[in-house]
Formats: sequence, C-alpha cells, structure tokens
Amino acid sequence: HETVYAIASGKGGVGKTTTTVNLGTALAEAGERVAIVDVDLGMANLAGFVSLTPDSTTLHDVLAGAASIDDATYRLADNIVAVPSGTSLDDYAETSPEGLREAVDELRSEFDYVFLDVGAGISHETVLPLGLADAVVLVSTPEPAAVHDSKKTIELTDRAGGEIAGLVLTRTRPDGDVSHDELADRLEVPLLGTIPEDPAARDSVYAGTPLVVFEPDGPAAVAYRRLAAELTGIE
Ligand code: ADP
Ligand code: MG
Repeated sequence: HETVYAIASGKGGVGKTTTTVNLGTALAEAGERVAIVDVDLGMANLAGFVSLTPDSTTLHDVLAGAASIDDATYRLADNIVAVPSGTSLDDYAETSPEGLREAVDELRSEFDYVFLDVGAGISHETVLPLGLADAVVLVSTPEPAAVHDSKKTIELTDRAGGEIAGLVLTRTRPDGDVSHDELADRLEVPLLGTIPEDPAARDSVYAGTPLVVFEPDGPAAVAYRRLAAELTGIE
C-alpha cells in the first residue's frame, strides 16, 4: 500500500496541519504505526502537540547532518510519533532539503504510514516532498480562491514526478458552498472527503490534543475517521 502521503495546499491556513494530525491519529487508533513530519521548515506547525525546549533535536538537526531521524522523533500517543521542525532562522540556513529524501526513506521502513505536513506555496522545500511522497493529498477550503490555488500544487506535483491521491475539502458548511463534487471536478481529481466547520478544531489546538481525541464524536472528528478509512481502507 501507499505509505508516505504529502498533505499539501496552494493557499495557507486551510487545514493541512489539522488534517495531518487527525488522519495520523485516526490511523494510530486503528492500530497502524504512524509518523507525522513537519516539513514546513522554519514553522512550528506541530509545536502545540510536542513540547520542545530550545535544545530539543528537530528535523533541522537531521537535515543539517547533526542528528539521526530517531533523535528527532517524539511520541504523541500509542502508535504515533511526530518529527517537529526547528523554528530558528539560523538553523534553517544550515539545513539541506535534499537530506529529506534519506529521512523519509528511514521513516518509510519503520512505520506503516508517514504523513508529511507540507508548507503552502511554491518554494523548493514545498516541491521536494510532493515528489518524495507516494501520493499527495490536496487540502483546500471550498472558497474558489483556495481551490484555484490547488491547481498550482497539482502542477508542482506533476513536475516533481509525484501522484495526486485527491482532494480534501475542509471547513465545509451545510449550505452555501459551491457543490463539493463540482470543486473536485474543476481540479480533475477525486474528492477524498469533506471535513465540516467545527469549533472543536480550534479548541483542540489550544488543548494540544488531536481533534479525534479531544471531541471524538464531533462532526470534524467523525469526518477525519471516515477520511482515514477512505484513503487507506483501514477502519
Ligand atoms: P494549515 O496547516 O493549512 O495552515 P491549520 O490546520 O493550521 O491550517 O488550520 C488553520 C486554522 O483553521 C486553525 O486555526 C484551525 O484550528 C482551523 N481549522 C482547521 N480545520 C477546521 C475545521 N474543520 N473547522 C474549524 N476550524 C478549523
Ligand atoms: Mg500548518
């Protein structure tokens, strides 16, 4: 089966990190061994879930050749670990994004599923993971501008030699959105799932707990478990 998924978007702030954390946790709860990796270098996407000190080893140290991936791996819960990114700009200058291939290969051999939380936009560090992953999950809100920006991610994925798994629409509303199927059709990719707008998403971040644990029966948590099943066949 596909092991390494890149969770990517054109526009920022559309729910990539939420999707990475909750897809990963849903699969870990189903008994799969999962690693989630913050490959949005220089950003603290997973900081709310992993407590780090300034001396903690991060993906930056691994990419700088100063640590092994195991040293940058932090346990989140049963069956799931996170590899956070370093946030200092000094470290960032020393990292070699090419080392990412090696790090991802090591994780691939140790875990059943690896989710790469990819930065938005079109920089080199964004493009590389799109090609390293077995498949790319596009994340977008239903807003036309966000969906439109997903086209760039599709193009970049093609150029990087990657494959698109499909689209996840986040923060959807019961009515008022353009038809979800139509949005996926516009991008010519399968619709993998829709995650409704749910205030628990934000509350769970403040609590430092994945949504699927924080409010397991809430609409977004239920939708993330359904997405995990749709993507992998595991329930
Ligand atoms: P990205 O990683 O793409 O920047 P995040 O996952 O950090 O996006 O989400 C951006 C913001 O949207 C966060 O405040 C998050 O809590 C909120 N959010 C994400 N998904 C939902 C949802 N389904 N309902 C409500 N708020 C959400
Ligand atoms: Mg993020």
